[in-house]
Amino acid sequence: MVARVIPVDCFDLVIFGATGDLARRKILPGLYRRWKEGQIPEGAVIIGAARSEMNVDGYREMIRAALDEFLNPSERDPEVMQSFLAMLDYVAIDARGEGGWKALAGKMRGDMVRAFYLSVAPALFGDIAARLHEHGIANRASRIVVEKPFGNDLESARALNDVLAGHFHEDQIYRIDHYLGKETVQNLMAVRFANILFEPLWNAQFVDHVQITVAETVGVGGRGDYYDHSGAMRDMVQNHMMQLLCLIAMEPPHHFEPDAMRDEKLKVIRALDPLAPGDLVRGQYSGDGGDDYLLESGNPDSMTESFIAMKLQISNWRWKGTPFYLRTGKRLKSRVSEIAVTFKEPPHSIFGESNLWRENVLVIRLQPDEGMDLRVMIKEPGPGGMRLKDVALDMSFAEALGNDLDIPDAYERLIMDVIRGNQTLFMRGDEVEAAWAWVDPVIAAWEARGDRPEPYDPGSTGPEGALMLMHRDGRRWREIR
Ligand code: NAP
Repeated sequence: MVARVIPVDCFDLVIFGATGDLARRKILPGLYRRWKEGQIPEGAVIIGAARSEMNVDGYREMIRAALDEFLNPSERDPEVMQSFLAMLDYVAIDARGEGGWKALAGKMRGDMVRAFYLSVAPALFGDIAARLHEHGIANRASRIVVEKPFGNDLESARALNDVLAGHFHEDQIYRIDHYLGKETVQNLMAVRFANILFEPLWNAQFVDHVQITVAETVGVGGRGDYYDHSGAMRDMVQNHMMQLLCLIAMEPPHHFEPDAMRDEKLKVIRALDPLAPGDLVRGQYSGDGGDDYLLESGNPDSMTESFIAMKLQISNWRWKGTPFYLRTGKRLKSRVSEIAVTFKEPPHSIFGESNLWRENVLVIRLQPDEGMDLRVMIKEPGPGGMRLKDVALDMSFAEALGNDLDIPDAYERLIMDVIRGNQTLFMRGDEVEAAWAWVDPVIAAWEARGDRPEPYDPGSTGPEGALMLMHRDGRRWREIR
């Protein structure tokens, strides 16, 4: 089955930070794929902007090399690549200087969607936003896209919101959380709100607990210095994991529409109980070889966590009493992102004690191999009486929808949403602030206590304390395979 591609309107897209890692590895390869699929119309222009002095040919060469490096061989098509590169332009601009802005203004065309993607350090957001206005480059119809990290705490997030609000209205600001662009995440919305099956069970009466896991096998690598000022709580929980939590826990919005969705997500964050110290475990990988956090971060005294596990409670009618367990970490056994909704046992087993009940679990896999499975009990086939067995009703998107289905990468989908002017999958300013308002006191409390992260072996499932967090509640984490 081939996905139906609806072309977007013609646009001028300016990428600030166009020579950087994110632009070369994700943004431009993503745009290439959308061009190849026919979603980007002829006449669209992508303008790279960064300080490096080079002409347009130099920039096209740089991006040709990036496409060679970051696309799969099967995606490369010399003719398509040629026409894609012809769409690129380049201006040398220092966000903090005066040169280049007039040239950029001269490249903007009248009746086009105009979007500015700020793939640069957040410290530059204010300078760029201000100059776009000073030079008449941005107008009321323009859109501005900003990357994570959106602040390091509530105060800095507020400052960024204020800076952007000084030049753009909220309906023009697209704060990217690429987790929201994943196919499965949107399918979670479809499963919850397009079927009658789950919604009646989607509450504390029937759901025993929810687990959200984002496990990585990589360490901090070359990002050690950046990561050491951040840690798992800021880097993963405050944004991606809280967004996933919101999508699982939110009430049905009246419409699949940006503000309706974001209003409901905000209510979830506001209903989170403050975290009790005993409901938190922080870890740091500690190995004999090069795979040691203290070595990789370059900070031998670091107290930063590369792993975190937490038990969260949502105080509202729907969820009171159902815990949400979150865990994320680096250098773990395998790379897995999934949400598992575990339902309660039936009140009475008619099949007797020998048929131990295993829970129904709905697993939503974000990676690898996006899909869902629902574990249900069936009779074990064959003679020997009524023996029960739990099996998975498995839906791998690739299998269910055809192996040749082209599922756009999260970045591709989100950039096309910017061009369409659809903010549904982007975070609103008040959501980001509410998430920081919950996270800040948790961090302040562990800093005040001087808590050291618990060491864990690289390649393991995390520190012992994380297992205990579950065991004491008579539960266990799903296996990280
Ligand atoms: P990077 O590789 O360091 O690239 C930074 C880019 O900004 C370069 O193109 C650089 O080009 C440009 N730049 C720096 N100072 C500038 C200035 N004064 N004026 C104009 N351009 C300037 O960083 P990155 O990894 O691409 O990340 C970009 C942003 O995305 C960061 O905020 C990062 O946190 C975020 N992010 C990155 C990733 C990722 O996977 N890389 C993932 C999520 C979020 P010149 O030196 O030529 O000016």
